Amino acid sequence: MKIIVYSTKPYDRRFLDEAVQSSNHSLTFLETRLTAATVKLAAGHDVVCAFVNDELDEGILKSLADMGIHLIALRCAGFNNVDLTAAKKNAISVVRVPEYSPHAVAEHAVALLLALNRNIHRAYGRTRDGNFSLEGLLGFDLYGRTVGVVGTGKIGCEFAKIMNGFGCHLVGLDIHTNPECEALGMDYVQLPELLQRADVISLHCPLTPETHHLIDHDAIEQMKPDVTIINTSRGACVDTTAVIAGLKSGKIGRLGLDVYEEEADLFFEDLSDQVIPDDTLSRLLTFPNVLITGHQAFFTKEALACIAATTIQNVTDFEETGKCKNQVQPTPA
Ligand code: NAD
Repeated sequence: MKIIVYSTKPYDRRFLDEAVQSSNHSLTFLETRLTAATVKLAAGHDVVCAFVNDELDEGILKSLADMGIHLIALRCAGFNNVDLTAAKKNAISVVRVPEYSPHAVAEHAVALLLALNRNIHRAYGRTRDGNFSLEGLLGFDLYGRTVGVVGTGKIGCEFAKIMNGFGCHLVGLDIHTNPECEALGMDYVQLPELLQRADVISLHCPLTPETHHLIDHDAIEQMKPDVTIINTSRGACVDTTAVIAGLKSGKIGRLGLDVYEEEADLFFEDLSDQVIPDDTLSRLLTFPNVLITGHQAFFTKEALACIAATTIQNVTDFEETGKCKNQVQPTPA
């Protein structure tokens, strides 16, 4: 199969080039994102390989179908950027990498939490500047605190295991309970109770209409004072304007974000010698108790190797059998 790979960086190419050796497929790498302006570059290929910020709306899927593309191979777990109904209508199958390293994302969520709580990001700058004062760096023991996990699937469960190791109490919210989390003593509750009980809230749910702006003004109102919020799921699960208000009022004590609702034109790019065009993100970056990483949680050697190998295998399975166990389907209305 001739696969066109959008949104690639040198690190993606390295792992995909290695994985493709075991197949008969060929890869064309593009740095650009898939958008209405770049969709025509897919002409002459059989498969489009896309990532988290590529646009796969109805218009783009129709254009791809017109070019004879029958398969979208996502090299990520989330598929909120794909209009699955339009894909089905246009006879395009969508496959993904449902699991690569839940440890990578869970460990990154913990890294954000620990850095924020103990002000490691601020201490790093200070000590390099010869400032060894502790003023403003006071943290709290995680031991004995209550951690709320929203979405207790593969990543949420790994995060819960680590927090359990720290001696935290666990409260969880999910539409399905996870026996592994229950075995850790997780107390499954509804959203209001989780918001009221948790000292730390970490999001690990997919972005769906139900989870869009799950953390909004109303939710923040119900949280404990000085709450820590960590989001490594999808940016739009959090209403950014609402968290800025919560930070300004002091209700939110710490905010760690690996994802941002308007990240598509910003993340994965080096904009260090430009003015950031997004005022909301710029405001977030001014808070000393906010730590932002640019959708980096998945970024480990193990995860990239697994993403590349699964993506190539997904295409092979589809070519050989017309189906693939990692296919995603639209939710029935
Ligand atoms: P998963 O499918 O194993 O788990 C998701 C869990 O969320 C499931 O248990 C599901 O029942 C639950 N859920 C669905 N709707 C919910 C709702 N309305 N309220 C509460 N829970 C709900 O997925 P996963 O592998 O654990 O990944 C979780 C999310 O993490 C992905 O959807 C993706 O958005 C995000 N992610 C981010 C990165 C990153 O680099 N930052 C990498 C991988 C995945």
